Amino acid sequence: MSNSSAVPSDRRQGNLIVISGPSGVGKTSICEALLTQLPDTVWSVSVTTRRTRAGEEGGHCYEFATREEFEAREAAGEFLETAEYIGQRYGTPRKPVEDALARGQNVVMEIDVQGGMQVAAKIPDSVRLFVLSPDMESLRARLEGRKTEAAEQLAKRLAKADGEIAIARDSGAYQHFVVNDCLETTIEEVKAIINKESGTA
Ligand code: 5GP
Repeated sequence: MSNSSAVPSDRRQGNLIVISGPSGVGKTSICEALLTQLPDTVWSVSVTTRRTRAGEEGGHCYEFATREEFEAREAAGEFLETAEYIGQRYGTPRKPVEDALARGQNVVMEIDVQGGMQVAAKIPDSVRLFVLSPDMESLRARLEGRKTEAAEQLAKRLAKADGEIAIARDSGAYQHFVVNDCLETTIEEVKAIINKESGTA
């Protein structure tokens, strides 16, 4: 980290925790649980060019920007990582993450696989988890033999999720793959992984 020299030597750096996974797999619920259940843990607010969804106004998840604003900030080197996801830009501002880690806080980032790979390269001691759905195989089985339009739509979604999972596995960017079968159990599993990785277990 560029400003780590500002950290008193007797003070441990916080942990950078990266949570990725296909859409709808429960990443946000896991991140929210980590924020309340891990000590001194903050959320990394991403910048995105996508439109605000109902209920997101004034929320803590995103800062919304135009593509021009995003690109200007990107050109200025403001982002730790960036991605293009279904035609929209997403990025993590670098400074809030570095400042929080230097203060000894844990930082939780919910980002896609493109971002996960960049963080793995730039901050190798981050803890990176990829969340999987237990439904993938059963959904795939149900799709077999069905040729309805609805099934095709499901297949497209599955194919997209499959692509993300393949990249996550092939890239080696994630140390842990967690199946979100029961949310409460998954949260305990994720917390145990973080504690073990950060040497606090
Ligand atoms: P959504 O638009 O559904 O909120 O997010 C779409 C995808 O972008 C999700 O996989 C989410 O985790 C990811 N994402 C959100 N913020 C960031 C970010 O700052 N960087 C990257 N790389 N991905 C992000």
